[in-house]
Amino acid sequence: MKFKLFSSCLLSASLLFGSTVLAAATPDYGALIEQAHQKYKDNNEGKVADYIPALATYSPKNFAIAIATVDGKIYQTGDASAAFPMESLSKVFTMALVMEQSGSEEVLNKLGANATGMAFNSGLAVELTKGAPENPLVNAGAMSAVSLVKAKDKDERWKLIMDNLNAYANDTLTVNEPVFKSEMETNQHNQALADLMESYNSFYSDTREAVEIYTRQCSVDVNTVQLVRMAAVLANNGKSPYSGKQLLSEKYVPQVLAEMAIAGLYDGSGKWLYLVGIPAKSGVGGGMIAVVPGEYAIAVYSPPLDNAGNSVRAQQTIQFIAEATKANQFYGNNK
Ligand code: GLU
Repeated sequence: MKFKLFSSCLLSASLLFGSTVLAAATPDYGALIEQAHQKYKDNNEGKVADYIPALATYSPKNFAIAIATVDGKIYQTGDASAAFPMESLSKVFTMALVMEQSGSEEVLNKLGANATGMAFNSGLAVELTKGAPENPLVNAGAMSAVSLVKAKDKDERWKLIMDNLNAYANDTLTVNEPVFKSEMETNQHNQALADLMESYNSFYSDTREAVEIYTRQCSVDVNTVQLVRMAAVLANNGKSPYSGKQLLSEKYVPQVLAEMAIAGLYDGSGKWLYLVGIPAKSGVGGGMIAVVPGEYAIAVYSPPLDNAGNSVRAQQTIQFIAEATKANQFYGNNK
């Protein structure tokens, strides 16, 4: 099977100093995403998130896949132009902004790099560590990350966060106002988490403001192509293959990817790393990204989620493609 997937794109043999050299095979990404779409489109497992009422309106049938290689090529299938809220995917890029502004030590010391082993919005996780930082990808740490963005006031904080998301997407993204409103009306749990963090001195700006900005960044709409462009920056050592801008210092990319490996799929992260072996991040809107450093990024959109809050079809699709391309980061060099 793997041989079949690779063979369609085997680069031709070339002659080098009299000896025949067979160049490494380039995966046929276009064929792979079509195969994955075909294979998983009728799998109806999982449930569309409804704890944020506006999210329940998205069709469980939506399913799009995109791959971006580090040279900027994009392969897409399904309705890759359909917009959906980023939700937790936004946390990766705000964490990267904090790292770029204040360094990786600050992120480690103030936001942490440990798995909670608990749900993404667990208050118990905060209580057990007395607000000690766990990681910037669970809700408590992500809201604290927003509070750490260096800005003179609320407007500037939001502008920095939005400009950063736009730079990664190489596009102008917009807030989905109905989703934002719906989430603001139902985010009492997140407000409580922020207050709890503040009671342990693990919050660094006004809590209400930070929760509102966090909720707004989660409500930013993105489509699968924009999302894969964002992830491609991380695959390409922090430099956008589209604008050519270095959005994240190369030295911080491994730390951002490490946080994704630790907590990108919440309490499903360990199993994900064991089975697939590449850093990834999900959002309850049904989006998911994964990064194969130096090679490619993948984004998938499919709203039905498993119990941990991760898209079912997205996980299946990424696992299928990662296996076909031998992307597991724990292989040796001669994979
Ligand atoms: N805005 C969502 C929340 O705070 C994000 C959760 C997620 O995508 O995992 O609950």
